[in-house]
Amino acid sequence: MKRIVILGAGPLGLGAAHRLQQLGYRDFTVYDKNDYVGGLAASFTDDEGFTWDIGGHVIFSHYEFFDAFMAEMVPETVSHGRESWVWVQDRFIAYPFQNNFHFLEKDVVLECVLGLHEAQLKFPSYTNFHEWILHCFGEGIATYFMIPYNFKVWATPAELMDSGWIAERVSVVDMKMVLANIVGAKKDASWGPNSTFDFPLRGGTGGLFSPMRGRLGRHLKLERNLISIDPEAKRLRFDTGEEDSYDMLVNGAPLDLFVPMIEGVPNAVREAAREMVFAGGWIVGVGFRQPCPSDKNWMYFPESNCPFYRVTYLSNYSPLIAPDKDHYSLLCEISESKYKPVTHDEALEQTLQGLINTRLISESDRDAIVSTHVIRRDHTYPVPFLGRDDRLRVVQAWLESKDILSRGRFGGWKYEVGNMDHSVQMGKEAVDRILEAKKESVYEW
Ligand SMILES: Cc1cc2nc3c(=O)[nH]c(=O)nc-3n(C[C@H](O)[C@H](O)[C@H](O)COP(=O)(O)OP(=O)(O)OC[C@H]3O[C@@H](n4cnc5c(N)ncnc54)[C@H](O)[C@@H]3O)c2cc1C
Repeated sequence: MKRIVILGAGPLGLGAAHRLQQLGYRDFTVYDKNDYVGGLAASFTDDEGFTWDIGGHVIFSHYEFFDAFMAEMVPETVSHGRESWVWVQDRFIAYPFQNNFHFLEKDVVLECVLGLHEAQLKFPSYTNFHEWILHCFGEGIATYFMIPYNFKVWATPAELMDSGWIAERVSVVDMKMVLANIVGAKKDASWGPNSTFDFPLRGGTGGLFSPMRGRLGRHLKLERNLISIDPEAKRLRFDTGEEDSYDMLVNGAPLDLFVPMIEGVPNAVREAAREMVFAGGWIVGVGFRQPCPSDKNWMYFPESNCPFYRVTYLSNYSPLIAPDKDHYSLLCEISESKYKPVTHDEALEQTLQGLINTRLISESDRDAIVSTHVIRRDHTYPVPFLGRDDRLRVVQAWLESKDILSRGRFGGWKYEVGNMDHSVQMGKEAVDRILEAKKESVYEW
């Protein structure tokens, strides 16, 4: 029997572990440096009784394995029809912006329509994400939404990013539909893979993964920070002084941190991993002693009057997210990077001011704030930067030659397959590949 070690009890590692348990496999261990499971998809309940996620997580699935995982882990869910909005020019318009900009001032509508009309004439080809935006949407939509919003999310200039990851992540424009929406003054909010979604009744997003803690028992070792790997002896060393060995290693830790831990890694591989581009994030939760004033789910903020790119009425996702119906919560997300540094004080104070600037709250609502909860993570978005796939090929080819499968949001570093459902499925497929030589379908390099 091969000994399988899984690094990271995030969705990837837990998906792999769940599959191993389904198959009745016994010789495996999951390690994580945290004292909790779920990784970036974990949730935390504060002393006031608010539950906070690490950013707004919307569960949608492409896979039967994930559906079955969810059904097993979360017997009770709350279903939602998406209510997502964009705050622009002092008003909310329905998301996506490109289908609903006709609710803006007439001169802006004209700029966006003319931009769309001229887009492919003026920008016939593209070599990066910035040019792709101009090519697909034209200058109007680019100026009012696409460029500023994407910089806020990725904290990386769009000129440094590729456009190959787009697929279902960005709604591209159908000119006939845009014109029909304008003429009919129609709200068009139906686009996208997550127009309806379910949310765990209990425990926030993390409620989907926390049951695995009990299920894994002795197979789970928390508070073990991996610090070095000997790929020849296949030995792992943790900060506790403990060691373990493996035949196959499944990694969910970020490649830029994981690769340098490997002894004797070739320079080209080390260099490729070092060059991976990412954004980190501040997730600022604000809890109010007030009934929720809105039935919105989440909102996008492209403008510079607030630091966040997205705010979620998290307490609308489940009645158990806030202490009771006389309280509600907002979850605000801010990205940071070397191109866009943010400090803790900026994150908190500018968020509160941004909530006022964007009229989500008024100055006097500050008195109703009963909880602020700030989470920071170094790695939140794996940026699809130009040259990413070349570097991934160098890194993954070498890792696989050493019996290491690196997958998941930052272990695989492909945003286009970086959601929870992808990660859980990648964990399953890694196990099926190791034990049954099955070909993976989600992650390709
Ligand atoms: C702001 C934000 C919004 C998101 N929104 C959505 C959404 O709407 N829908 C959706 O499906 N997904 C969303 N996601 C993505 C979702 O969180 C990820 O898909 C998922 O968490 C990835 O799982 P993973 O196991 O690959 O990685 P992670 O969750 O990052 O887990 C990796 C684990 O490895 C551990 N680890 C790292 N280094 C070491 C070490 N040296 N030693 C031991 N352990 C280590 C970490 O502690 C962590 O627990 C969002 C993520 C963010 C950040």
